[in-house]
Amino acid sequence: MAAVGLLDRLLAGSGVERSAVVGAGVGIPGPIDRRTGTVAQGAILPEWVGINILQRLEDALDLPVFVDNDANLGALSEVTWGPHTGISNLMFLKIGSGIGAGLILNGMPYYGNVGITGEIGHATIHEHGLVCRCGNRGCLETIASTTTMIELLSRGEDKPITPEDIVRKAVARDSATLRVVDDAGLAVGRALGNVANLINPEVIVVGGPLAGLGELLLDPIRRGLIRHAVPVIGETTTLTMSSLGDRAEALGATALVFQHAGIRRN
Ligand SMILES: [Zn+2]
Repeated sequence: MAAVGLLDRLLAGSGVERSAVVGAGVGIPGPIDRRTGTVAQGAILPEWVGINILQRLEDALDLPVFVDNDANLGALSEVTWGPHTGISNLMFLKIGSGIGAGLILNGMPYYGNVGITGEIGHATIHEHGLVCRCGNRGCLETIASTTTMIELLSRGEDKPITPEDIVRKAVARDSATLRVVDDAGLAVGRALGNVANLINPEVIVVGGPLAGLGELLLDPIRRGLIRHAVPVIGETTTLTMSSLGDRAEALGATALVFQHAGIRRN
């Protein structure tokens, strides 16, 4: 399994003894059913559905393994290593090929009943919108996922553009890219408005491959949030890009292991 090779290379490269490793943290870009440790339906990885990732990795790595959804790990990393240490109510929104949220409520990661929370990507935005991979219509992901943005902006191109191209073209003020980013941000803000009304977060952190858009994406999200949230909630919720970049989920995975191993950050 590729993970075994990765671990061996990492240990050899860092000079750390295997006996000093307290566990492995793993992030999956899809929902994890915490009752069984399996990847649940609705994941962006359809061929992984029903696989007991926890058991498979523990057998292969011969280490304690802790598995979580990547957006949950992003949230955990922001309150553990990021600039939001000490924030009790934080939401991490990952905008990528899927859109998911991780929640810290009252200082603790929130897992709900079976561990599947933050499925904001499937909030209905347009009743008669495009059909989504979940089978519904007009979900947030059909407007604001990188997959949708790439589809819209690749028309007329020789090959599909990348998330990095979206950032580059938006910064260069390409009008079609700016329009797609604006539409996406407004839709995200609208969905966030509903969630913010429900949980009143102090901070919402946006992460994922479009983080380089900065205010170009945050501005329409903020407009959508303010339009759809109760005024005092919209005005008092801090909206920011993740400063941890593409390391957010990996850092969250280490925080997950430390949490379970009872190791506190000093
Ligand atoms: Zn959907």
